[in-house]
Amino acid sequence: MSDIRDEVAETFAELFGSEPAGLWSAPGRVNLIGEHTDYNEGFVLPFAINRRTVVALGLREDRVIRVASGFADEAAEIAIADLAPGAVSGWPAYPLGVAWALGQLGADLAAVPGVDLYIESTVPVGAGLSSSAAIESAVALALNDVWRLGMDRRVLASVGQRAENEMVGAPTGIMDQSASLLGREDAAVFLDCRSLESEVVDLGFRAAGLELLVIDTGVEHQHATGGYADRRASCERGAAALGVTSLRDVTDLTAARDLLDDETFRRVRHVVTENQRVLDTVRALREDGPLAIGGLLDASHVSMRDDFEISVPELDLAVETAQANGAIGARMTGGGFGGSAIALVPAESISRVLVAVDGAFAEAGMQQPTMFTVTPSEGAKRER
Ligand code: ADP
Ligand code: MG
Repeated sequence: MSDIRDEVAETFAELFGSEPAGLWSAPGRVNLIGEHTDYNEGFVLPFAINRRTVVALGLREDRVIRVASGFADEAAEIAIADLAPGAVSGWPAYPLGVAWALGQLGADLAAVPGVDLYIESTVPVGAGLSSSAAIESAVALALNDVWRLGMDRRVLASVGQRAENEMVGAPTGIMDQSASLLGREDAAVFLDCRSLESEVVDLGFRAAGLELLVIDTGVEHQHATGGYADRRASCERGAAALGVTSLRDVTDLTAARDLLDDETFRRVRHVVTENQRVLDTVRALREDGPLAIGGLLDASHVSMRDDFEISVPELDLAVETAQANGAIGARMTGGGFGGSAIALVPAESISRVLVAVDGAFAEAGMQQPTMFTVTPSEGAKRER
């Protein structure tokens, strides 16, 4: 099997007529637990996965950036001085947005040389595994190295977020970039979305013989965007009614029940209990190991299904079938209204879960999901 790094280097040479100066890569991510907690200044626990985006970079003698990708036919080029929101559209807004955002976050780009970039990825696009953070993080690390900017990885995570928010125009948080830049093998990144402090937490999946199965339902719900905005609004309403700046600060659910209407109360209860489940998961991993976190994953799903009401029948079926066939825990992951579920499964039960999920979806007349395992892996790095 040919190595994606060789392919990227060869295609770079064909496109640009010279060898690249170096190769960098960054992974996609899965969120283990902590859903809809980020914008409530709460906690999340994502990990970097063994699907990566690889960037080959060559230095130029002028002040132009050219980008090309195996993902799309159109390449793009722009002078560094012309980088600005609105100046680029489509996929090039991700890598060129990163170059722009480095300047916004303090890098002096007045004298840096132009670059050629060629990008390829094994992170599936739009499957909820954050191919967007993978491309941003790989490009951010590459430019930080060759332009000798000396920026910290946490700042590079903010660079990726700024690119996505302002050049792409997607209002996302910093979780994905943090996982992609700070991830370690067989470990997760415990991120406090208020202070932006993070810690690496060992997962110990390998020693425990556990696999993390992703079940991509392929369901892309038309209400996803509206539903997300609506849940955010509920959280803001709940926080205002309870007199706190964010739901992170709510500890007393008894008082909240009296002050809120039933629906807002349930939205608030999801966020408050989910934050606690992230903290409990981190403690369980540290004290008892990964076999102890199954119940927390299960409870997270129930909370999203019943209190936050963002699940769909396909996600519920995936979760229930995995649980009934040997998974030690399972939950929907991501924003909801479709997308993927994850299941933590002993290696010896994987094939049973695969067969059972396929069978259950067929029986329910639902489109067959795509299933694959992911391994918690190291974050962005220079490859060559
Ligand atoms: P995801 O859940 O995969 O992050 P997004 O919609 O946030 O989905 O980001 C996907 C977009 O990121 C793609 O449509 C494309 O514009 C860009 N992208 C991701 N990977 C690549 C790549 N390898 N080459 C070019 N563009 C990419
Ligand atoms: Mg994304």
